Amino acid sequence: MVAGLATVGGRAEEPAPAACGASGRPGGQPRHIIHLVADGMCWSTFTMGDAYARLKRGRGLRWLELFRAPEAVVTTVNMRSLNSMVTDSAAASSSWGSGSRVVNGTLNMLPDGRKLRPLGPLFGEAGWRRGLVTTTEITHATPAGFAATVKSRGEAETIAPQYLAHRIEVLLGGGRKFFDRAKRKDHTDLFAAYRKAGYTVVQTADELGRAPVRSRLLGTFAASHLPFGLDLDQDPDRRREVPTLAAMTRAALKRLEDADHFLLQVEGGRVDHGGHACDIAAALRELVDFDEALEVCLEFQRRVPETLLVITTDHGTGGPALNGVGSKYGDSSPLFAHILGARRSFEALEKEVPKVAGVGDLQRLLGEALGYRPPEEKAAAFLAFVEKQWKPLFGGMDGLGMQLGQLMANHYGVSWTSGAHTGEYVPLVALGPGAARFRGFQQNTDIFRHYTDLAGIDYRNPEAPLLAECAPSAATAEFGELLA
Ligand SMILES: [Zn+2]
Repeated sequence: MVAGLATVGGRAEEPAPAACGASGRPGGQPRHIIHLVADGMCWSTFTMGDAYARLKRGRGLRWLELFRAPEAVVTTVNMRSLNSMVTDSAAASSSWGSGSRVVNGTLNMLPDGRKLRPLGPLFGEAGWRRGLVTTTEITHATPAGFAATVKSRGEAETIAPQYLAHRIEVLLGGGRKFFDRAKRKDHTDLFAAYRKAGYTVVQTADELGRAPVRSRLLGTFAASHLPFGLDLDQDPDRRREVPTLAAMTRAALKRLEDADHFLLQVEGGRVDHGGHACDIAAALRELVDFDEALEVCLEFQRRVPETLLVITTDHGTGGPALNGVGSKYGDSSPLFAHILGARRSFEALEKEVPKVAGVGDLQRLLGEALGYRPPEEKAAAFLAFVEKQWKPLFGGMDGLGMQLGQLMANHYGVSWTSGAHTGEYVPLVALGPGAARFRGFQQNTDIFRHYTDLAGIDYRNPEAPLLAECAPSAATAEFGELLA
């Protein structure tokens, strides 16, 4: 069975070189490339995100509207990693970033230790400005896949100075602790090092608004990831401090736009975290915030048509789906609308749930935070799980958030396959000059070749043979570490 995967993992045929047409045309050559990633978005999350956006703001996802644009190229991508049909974000971003598949958890490094050169430094040497924008830690796997080379994605303290070494012009996201002398193990003051190299260093939305346009920019707006949009809505003071993904994207474009060429990655990184937590309200809210950042990029492209936009995800997370509920499935739509009643993320609730004083207290907490007072029997069963009195039959659902997600399925109609990533071909939309290259089913590694070819960069990293094909490991029903 495993051997049969060879064609799935193999490289797609190289597309014919794009004709250099008029700028702005799909066959043309871009001056700018913007790569947008809604991290951890299943097809079902996309479907539900469109319905949620309609309910929340009266119009569906802009991303989905692009599927109807005659000039847009719409396709699917095989995101598998070197060792698995199910990728993590490090291997996924490395495949785009270096054109080589790597083992999950590593960033731009082959299993034998050979280092791969990612897009960030390659484009920098070719005279392109570079930017990374995310709602996660700026050192997290997806941004790092474009500009860092480390054995383990967990080496955030090593990734932070690599961005400086490559002089990535714009860095906006979370992860302040990895730059802060007081928090770093080696006590290096990376903020000072960045300032010395000509960066403006900011930590609030206000400072971001006042930062000079003509300097390199490092913005870290939280110690770790930026809070979920859902939680920020309840905390206006914090909301004022933390810029939205759209605001960060706008700030990045301001600093990049006067360059002849730039490459910008924009990540809605916490769609994935909502999926890991089996928290559909948090995930869909993050997807709508991502869609607003996409809107900023589309506005930019209207002004500067020599811009290629590529909008995609790296993998699915959690496998959520809206189920048929009730007679003739007539309850599904009203249940789905309950998602709008969620006022806090599961992440914000996780510390409070184990402390509740019995069934009534749990019903009150969930009623206030999520708009759902579970019936006594269900609340009691959930509390018994929290108190470790039973374990789920499927090991992939053994977590507080995961069981809270299943409890909330009674209220939302949305249940989950696990709290882990899913292996699925993902959607990709390309729009603007160079988009023609993306026609047809793509391999993740093709993206690197498209970007480098479009930029006139002649560089190929070494590749390693797929591990799942040559050394299948013993199948096991145990679920290991959850990679983000
Ligand atoms: Zn993840």
